[in-house]
Amino acid sequence: MNAVIKQHLIDPEICIRCNTCEEACPIDAVTHDDNNYVVNAEICNGCLHCVSPCPTGAIDNWRMVANVYSLDEQFAWQDLPEQAPIKIEAADALEDDVAALLSHAHQGLGGKPVAAASAATPEINLFNRARPAKASVRGNYRLTDADAEADIRHIILDFGEIPFPVLEGQSIGVIPPGIDAQGKPHAIRLYSIASPRDGEKPGANNLALTVKRVPGGICSDYLCDLPKGAQLDVTGPFGATFLMPNDPNAHILMICTGTGSAPFRGFTERRRRAMPDAPGHLHLYFGARRPEELPYFGPLQKIPASLLTQRLCFSRVPEQPRTYVQDRIREDGAQIARLLSDANTHVYICGLRGMETGVDEAFADACRHAGLDWQALKPELRGSGRYHVETY
Ligand SMILES: Cc1cc2nc3c(=O)[nH]c(=O)nc-3n(C[C@H](O)[C@H](O)[C@H](O)COP(=O)(O)OP(=O)(O)OC[C@H]3O[C@@H](n4cnc5c(N)ncnc54)[C@H](O)[C@@H]3O)c2cc1C
Ligand code: SF4
Ligand code: SF4
Repeated sequence: MNAVIKQHLIDPEICIRCNTCEEACPIDAVTHDDNNYVVNAEICNGCLHCVSPCPTGAIDNWRMVANVYSLDEQFAWQDLPEQAPIKIEAADALEDDVAALLSHAHQGLGGKPVAAASAATPEINLFNRARPAKASVRGNYRLTDADAEADIRHIILDFGEIPFPVLEGQSIGVIPPGIDAQGKPHAIRLYSIASPRDGEKPGANNLALTVKRVPGGICSDYLCDLPKGAQLDVTGPFGATFLMPNDPNAHILMICTGTGSAPFRGFTERRRRAMPDAPGHLHLYFGARRPEELPYFGPLQKIPASLLTQRLCFSRVPEQPRTYVQDRIREDGAQIARLLSDANTHVYICGLRGMETGVDEAFADACRHAGLDWQALKPELRGSGRYHVETY
């Protein structure tokens, strides 16, 4: 009998074909055809260099196998095969092995992400690079003041007759036109959906994005300059875990900076439309340099406190102390600890990579003062689909 080995595989249902893993792999173990990105078992040494750059988690899949899946088999897959039954000793090895790999890949986050139990089932990867959805720009408005450093825009994409079903918290892929320095088509970039599932206006087949122009950035520049009526190629939708709970009892604690506000605009609008009198409450901690640089500052002022508690934090207002989201979380420590220990609370963190650390420390402080152990609570929340981080 062949020895059982741990094979590294890519989930074709979640993969957005962005090419990041192929670029990240130092020994060229990742390859692709027109259908799928795949890992060559004869080359891959399990070094994990590809795992954290992968924006969707599609690459973080492992199976214990006696006969490895060939490249041709993987190229033909529409979905990832389940773990086939294997001998008990090997199954034990899988648990330990994969747990170790995952905890490394998620850098101590405490296990694989899980969607909220009450979240609706998302549609994923309906459109890809080979078969993109054509969307047209319905509007492109600057959200930040003209003199603000950041140019952040609200961009509305219309799908016309093309069904493009989304849920709050999902993202789409945008294919920027043109080729890179190596002569290859530009990689797909992801953008969070900033509108609720039924569109900018109820019943419209459109969605909104919140896009920040990155100096020298290929795709953000392209998007921010698109005029009304322009057409673009869209892939997705993507994302199966950072999803809004449908449970009206769910308290939703949302923490963001900059364009990380995009999914939370979708969450808030969904609650306002679908269940304005829900017993669950929304809490928003939102950081920016100044009010003029905070996307959706104006519209936020109109949202009733009965639906959403807002804690806006500014780090560059003249003659005012610099305040970051973690400072406000500490100030509200008692309330935060109550929320974190409530089984109805769901936590979402979205924004710049690195913001999680400060928030994590603030949660730990809030818990400590309330006699709770955040290090024990966090994996519990995460394991039950109530703790989600999306940073980029
Ligand atoms: C799940 C997810 C959700 C996201 N949601 C949003 C969102 O809602 N809104 C949003 O604005 N963004 C979002 N992003 C980020 C987005 O996908 C892009 O990464 C971002 O817009 C920058 O892409 P770009 O093509 O403009 O920049 P890129 O062209 O990728 O460049 C990025 C930076 O690298 C520099 N650079 C590029 N090439 C080189 C080179 N050869 N040498 C040196 N420097 C170089 C550029 O100057 C720039 O500073 C999300 C990302 C993820 C993973
Ligand atoms: S989504 Fe992940 S697995 Fe798919 S091509 Fe991009 S990096 Fe690779
Ligand atoms: S685990 Fe390492 S060798 Fe394997 S595909 Fe990823 S980067 Fe390449």
